[in-house]
Amino acid sequence: MVDNTISWHMRPSVLDSEIKFIPGVGPKRAQLLEKELGIRTFKDLLYTFPFRYVDRSKFYLISELHPDMPYIQLKGKFVRFETVGNGRSARYLGYFSDGRSSIEVVWFQGVKWVKDKYKIGVEYVLFGKPTAFNGKLNIAHPEIEQPKTEEGIINTAIHGVYSSTEKLKDGFLSTKAFSRIIATLLQMTLHQIDETLPEHIVKQLKLLPLREALLNIHFPKNSQLLAHAVQRLKFEELFYIQLNLLKQKVIRERTTNGLVCKVVGDKFNTFYSSYLPFPLTGAQKRVIKEMRADMGSGRQMNRLLQGDVGSGKTLVALMMSLIASDNGYQVSLMAPTEILANQHYESITGMLKDMPVKVALLTGSTRKKARTAIHEGLLSGEINILIGTHALIEDVVQFSNLGLVIIDEQHRFGVMQRAKLWTKNHLPPHILVMSATPIPRTLAMTIYGDLEVSVIDELPPGRKPITTMHFTDSQRRRLFGFMKEQIDLGRQVYVVYPLIKESEKMDYKDLEDGYESITRAFPLPEYQTVVLHGKMKAEDKDISMNQFASGKAHIMVATTVIEVGVNVPNASVMVIESSERFGLSQLHQLRGRVGRGAEQSYCILMSGYKLSKESKKRLDTMVATNDGFEIAEADLKLRGPGDLEGTQQSGIPFDLKIANLAKDGQLLQYARRVAEEILEEDPTLAQPQHAVLRYQLQQLSADKAVNLKEIS
Ligand code: ADP
Ligand code: MG
Repeated sequence: MVDNTISWHMRPSVLDSEIKFIPGVGPKRAQLLEKELGIRTFKDLLYTFPFRYVDRSKFYLISELHPDMPYIQLKGKFVRFETVGNGRSARYLGYFSDGRSSIEVVWFQGVKWVKDKYKIGVEYVLFGKPTAFNGKLNIAHPEIEQPKTEEGIINTAIHGVYSSTEKLKDGFLSTKAFSRIIATLLQMTLHQIDETLPEHIVKQLKLLPLREALLNIHFPKNSQLLAHAVQRLKFEELFYIQLNLLKQKVIRERTTNGLVCKVVGDKFNTFYSSYLPFPLTGAQKRVIKEMRADMGSGRQMNRLLQGDVGSGKTLVALMMSLIASDNGYQVSLMAPTEILANQHYESITGMLKDMPVKVALLTGSTRKKARTAIHEGLLSGEINILIGTHALIEDVVQFSNLGLVIIDEQHRFGVMQRAKLWTKNHLPPHILVMSATPIPRTLAMTIYGDLEVSVIDELPPGRKPITTMHFTDSQRRRLFGFMKEQIDLGRQVYVVYPLIKESEKMDYKDLEDGYESITRAFPLPEYQTVVLHGKMKAEDKDISMNQFASGKAHIMVATTVIEVGVNVPNASVMVIESSERFGLSQLHQLRGRVGRGAEQSYCILMSGYKLSKESKKRLDTMVATNDGFEIAEADLKLRGPGDLEGTQQSGIPFDLKIANLAKDGQLLQYARRVAEEILEEDPTLAQPQHAVLRYQLQQLSADKAVNLKEIS
């Protein structure tokens, strides 16, 4: 029997045709559209959605207009035209009246065409954006038509506005022309567009069928149908991302056997009962339990361990290493920098003391002789835990029985680098990736949708939460008073200035001025202030750093060079100047420089009095919470996912067409659940009603292959 469902969906689709075949497009415009917006096929065009809608059933009075309005619609007549200026600065002006008042309409280009086209005394509908110019309102390059209703499917009140470019406008592809082309295309192809979700899912979830969704996203019949269309298309986009990731996970689980680490043996138990430097936090216990279950299950572990800076991930990594070791497997722990690798080596060997666990350190600066010895120790199985940098990935590094791969600060590594470690055993080792970059849940589900996630959401006891305050520049007196109080209590203070490339000169000036005013308020010999910034000579940096670390200097005025690696537990005040110029995650990192000792610590955010809404929100968030995850969520909402650390290398397309990772978190979780349920029932998507899912996933990977080709 022929499976009709499959062949039906597999047939070459009309949607793959090139747009030059749409009446009204032709080769020239097709080229322009491809170059400007990357639109090549029917499908590309149908999936280019309006970025905004306007209600064209409403007409405004000119007297009601103000410059904050979006696109509006007027009805009236031109009473006069004139050309002003000459040569390149020539403009053509029309005075448009609605019978009560009038407004200036201005054209900078295409004047000849406009002159022929529009006449005085004829009634027009004018559509454009009011702008303030020289204290007066005008409308530049509006769309103008005669007040008649158009026939066909675009006869609706809510009109989509498409993004355009200058070049497109020059090629007569305004949003209106664009919309007309899409209308033509829909009329040509709508009846041939195949549903891209299984029919039973569409019914069960009460989604709008694809044809109706596409029609209503471009030409909404009413606002409810528009909302349904948006919902359906967002769902589909998120659903396929999740289905794709989850399917990969299912395949991995079914096809690869994991190394079984069932035993909790001598090493783990001895360490736990006699060597543990402090009681584990509840969160540490929980994540260790989660991972023990993974590693004992007979399936490969793939886990992301998230925890804010200082939450104690290293200890967890060590305890998992001991379990691997108890089961006869070796461990490799990779860190992104030599400093970090050294630090891990020191702290892990320090915690293990005299336990019979052999740990080795391999980095770029390991000498040849030591290197050879390590290579041998790995092959013979003598070395239990190998700690290092990228050097671990090299082909010459071979293990006798690698069972667990741990990657610290994983967002600093590329996907390929990670994958390479997996191949160092005949069966893939268990994978634990650790990250201090708090990634919001929705994003984690997209980037690491194929990983399990464990979260350490608790700091070790005794750490006092940092108190954060926001001062405006006019409260500098109060700031200095507070600094004095703290210094007199024996504490030290950081004052950080932003440094942004484009205005480097000005920023250094800020830093110098700041240094001067601080030394005036905190004069020698009672107070000592040092400076630290990137342009200083290495030895001068060392001098400043040592003065501050040893407690001789009370205040350090610095740029963000201190963001990573500086650890002076006695410093308990972080003042951030022009804090409105920093991003949220950077503010959080900077704040993390204090609160490392036993004292109550403070972070003071300085800013001007006038703040943009967004800056205000950012500073309010900092004052309200110390929680890295909450801050990351807020950052995602304010900035969008593309800017967040760790997303660039994920290989996931962030230019989603319609869904928004920051705003559609709930829908994303819903889509994931639906995908999970489908895969639970039909892990290989073999059932006939799931043929369309298989087909769409193939399309997804085909699209990806094309993208990769374009990049290389
Ligand atoms: P991160 O998660 O940033 O890698 P670390 O593993 O470096 O954090 O731990 C930060 C500090 O907290 C270290 O000095 C470590 O010894 C300490 N620490 C870890 N776990 C605990 C605990 N359960 N109780 C007290 N201190 C702990
Ligand atoms: Mg760490």
